[in-house]
Amino acid sequence: MTVHGHKGFKFQNWAKTYGCYPEMYFQPTCVEEVRQVLDLARQQNKRVKVIGGGHSPSDIACTDGFMIHMGKMNRILKVDKAKRQVTVEAGILLMDLNVELSKHGLALSNLGAVSDVTAAGVIGTGTHNTGIKHGILATQVVALTLLTASGTIIECSETNNAELFKASLLHLGCLGIILTITFQCVAQFHLQETSFPSTLKEVLDNLDNHLKKSEYFRFLWFPHSENVSVIYQDHTNKPPTSAASWFWDYAIGFHLLEFLLWVSEKTGEALRELKTMLENNPNVVAHFPVEVRFVKGDNILLSPCFQRDSCYMNIIIYRPYGKDIPRLDYWLAYERIMKKVGGRPHWAKAHTCTRTDFEKMYPSFQKFCAIREKLDPTGMFLNACLEKVFY
Ligand SMILES: Cc1cc2nc3c(=O)[nH]c(=O)nc-3n(C[C@H](O)[C@H](O)[C@H](O)COP(=O)(O)OP(=O)(O)OC[C@H]3O[C@@H](n4cnc5c(N)ncnc54)[C@H](O)[C@@H]3O)c2cc1C
Repeated sequence: MTVHGHKGFKFQNWAKTYGCYPEMYFQPTCVEEVRQVLDLARQQNKRVKVIGGGHSPSDIACTDGFMIHMGKMNRILKVDKAKRQVTVEAGILLMDLNVELSKHGLALSNLGAVSDVTAAGVIGTGTHNTGIKHGILATQVVALTLLTASGTIIECSETNNAELFKASLLHLGCLGIILTITFQCVAQFHLQETSFPSTLKEVLDNLDNHLKKSEYFRFLWFPHSENVSVIYQDHTNKPPTSAASWFWDYAIGFHLLEFLLWVSEKTGEALRELKTMLENNPNVVAHFPVEVRFVKGDNILLSPCFQRDSCYMNIIIYRPYGKDIPRLDYWLAYERIMKKVGGRPHWAKAHTCTRTDFEKMYPSFQKFCAIREKLDPTGMFLNACLEKVFY
């Protein structure tokens, strides 16, 4: 069994905002083939980047070295119904995992907005949704295996290589290749969504109430106005009705920028400042509602929610494919506000932060760097995007 690479492959992320031409493109079908790619990379002194669903809006998955697509390593390896745990190959798409879990009466307790993303990809960048009792998706992981630059396979969990586990749960694709993941699931459930109009003042004044009232509370603020749409999602015993998601299917490409900050009065401070900035700068136009979501704190070294319950504020700009549109005034003003209130950027999305910023934002940044340098001393898994993080 020998893995074959292809030349001339063009990679583009989902929003077509970044792309690259890897020197060689591989689609391994088993661990042995992944190992062969790493052996070749070591011999030829090449860099390696794994891609999952290619949904990251930034260039975090880009490389001009070797690219490994994990789509053929997507099997369910084990379902433990008693423990409600499932072990999967890391390239599985969540949409496929969800179908399989459903057959066993199981589900993940929280998912992101889309499911054509992979198990390893979502934990790679700290994918989250909303619900102050729910952490980022990686908090549902109880174990994983990692193939390191040297070709060693390491098993990690809270009881096995615990420090590496805490790093690998938000790995940025730079610690090695995630081969398998074990998720803690819950009994399958249905959600009922209720949404109603409100105002920014009402929501901010009553934030605690909203957070208590609904397990998966989020809201959309319509910039240039006071209008808010409050969205509650909660468990229900009612039978499901069809709910097609039209938004992502018809979107024609956009840039996403998302920072986050502490939940509490800082949510209000940041949103009010953003509103004032837009009122004072009529030339700066926000195209789309600001989505505000809430996530429970955790202990994952590079998690934006590290040791604090957090509020994510997602600003979105429409960008028809292939067209550049003015956005920097809005983005940079937003970023200034977020930095001022102690925000941390989403790892998959646009920001201008560098190592100096991350050292201040993350108490465990040095610890993560030490783990990365030990596992990957030659920087095999780095790329231009990650160099800005680590150098
Ligand atoms: C339409 C849309 C909606 C989104 N909604 C949300 C949302 O609700 N919440 C949110 O937080 N984010 C959201 N995102 C961002 C998205 O969840 C993240 O970018 C996620 O990382 C994408 O997963 P992926 O499988 O596409 O990973 P990719 O973008 O392919 O890769 C992400 C990172 O993981 C690494 N990687 C992938 N597989 C492996 C592996 N096996 N081993 C080692 N490294 C690996 C890559 O090298 C890269 O560094 C959204 C993005 C889009 C385009």
